[in-house]
Amino acid sequence: MQLKSYINGEWVESQKTIDIINPANQEVIAVAPRMSKEQTEEAIQAAREAFDQGEWAKTTTKERSLILHEIANKLEKRIHEFAVYETLDNGKLYAEAEADIEDTVSCFRYYAGIILHPDGETYNVPDDVQAMVVKEPVGVAGLIVPWNFPLLMSAWKIAPALAAGNTIVYKPAEITPITAYKLFELFEEVGLPKGVANMVLGQGSIIGQTISESHDVDMVSFTGSTDIGRGIMRAAAGNLKKISLELGGKSPNIVFADADLEVAVDYGLFGIFLGAGQVCSSGSRILVQDTIFDAYVERYVARAEKIVVGPGMNKDTNMGAIVSEGQMNSILGYIKKGIAEGATLKTGGYRLMDHDRDKGFFIAPTVFTDVDQSMTIVREEIFGPVVTIQKFSTEEEAVALANDTDFGLAGGVFSNDGAKALRVIKQIRAGITWVNDYHPTYVEAPWGGYKQSGIGRSLGKYSLEEFQEVKQINIRLNVEPNGWFPQ
Ligand code: NAD
Repeated sequence: MQLKSYINGEWVESQKTIDIINPANQEVIAVAPRMSKEQTEEAIQAAREAFDQGEWAKTTTKERSLILHEIANKLEKRIHEFAVYETLDNGKLYAEAEADIEDTVSCFRYYAGIILHPDGETYNVPDDVQAMVVKEPVGVAGLIVPWNFPLLMSAWKIAPALAAGNTIVYKPAEITPITAYKLFELFEEVGLPKGVANMVLGQGSIIGQTISESHDVDMVSFTGSTDIGRGIMRAAAGNLKKISLELGGKSPNIVFADADLEVAVDYGLFGIFLGAGQVCSSGSRILVQDTIFDAYVERYVARAEKIVVGPGMNKDTNMGAIVSEGQMNSILGYIKKGIAEGATLKTGGYRLMDHDRDKGFFIAPTVFTDVDQSMTIVREEIFGPVVTIQKFSTEEEAVALANDTDFGLAGGVFSNDGAKALRVIKQIRAGITWVNDYHPTYVEAPWGGYKQSGIGRSLGKYSLEEFQEVKQINIRLNVEPNGWFPQ
């Protein structure tokens, strides 16, 4: 499949290309363009003109809502096709990909609905003035997304950005562009006006950087690693564009002795091995109370060893591939470091290369114990199927360990003492939390992190607000001179 970028309503190619690889077997499944800085600037100009001409921003909310519904309806009819592309491109399980595409449909529907809600305010002022607040689009929004949920992360930005009336310059991750390309085919089918939605395929250092630096871009919404997020913040300073950053995590999953052991083990596995650990909110640090520590670890390791790792399209696979060779080598590097720094490797720790896994990027579910706060595998985001299990004795110690991190994206607590669970979860410095649960994500609820896990919130009404400016309008009710200066 030959992919193209979409700029100003046209499909555009580039001389430079990149092979898109299926990480389960290294087969080339598509060829994508690597667009240049100049082509990115053309896309920005197209979005700028489309916004400044006002055709899109001035559409009624009902018109935009109908277009988003139409996109959702078309995508819903092709969930299987999109899920297969996502599986082949990213390496995740088909069932995970299918859930992602279903969530993408829901995301377009949600913003098609919420944009119709009343969103203004009036406020009381000590004067003969009617004061009110209205919401307006920010303008040209740059949207930059990672490879772990290629289509879903894109929808989290595209749907609210378009619903709010912005025009967009969107950059999918370089190595997972297939579903983005297919989505833009749907955009063309529903007749989005020229220049409203532009997609530029290729490298982050060129396209992402150009978008972040451009003075013609009014906001940049980025999901990806904390280091790149920092760079985006610096680049955005040039014209003080609005930024929204969804970054990395190193999230704690706390298990108290009074928790249901089976449930806590189950979600402990789900928390890290879903998506082969390539999920920003992964519960990569499990903290277990000392009195049940040994029983928990024994059960956890036994179940981790039963996980079938393999190609995402195989029906018996429980955990898919790592997205790329580079990512796999980075994870294996962290595992080596964990061993070198003195952690105990309880299971896993190696690449799987047998049977139908001989050419793919597969890593066995990996569990470390005997870790402490100084170790790299406890402090840094590994973004792979690697978990540390640590011991604590008191509630205070659990909270202290949980919060001893630069990140603040997510966290979980397992306990059958409701008051304790709530008390502890309220002390966790993170934006997304669960009690006796891990990972479910709802389009209605805000998504984002404290500390170095980001700035701003995706999803819910919060995301719509990220893509809106707030304007106050004051209307004098009796139109007469105010007499401040002499006649
Ligand atoms: P990444 O930071 O390497 O890349 C993300 C995107 O930024 C890609 O499209 C990439 O091409 C682009 N990019 C790269 N260099 C750039 C630059 N200089 N300027 C602008 N853009 C640039 O991240 P990744 O490896 O694709 O994804 C994994 C990371 O994403 C993890 O850290 C994970 O935690 C994070 N993530 C966070 C969330 C969240 O909601 N908080 C969700 C998913 C992933």
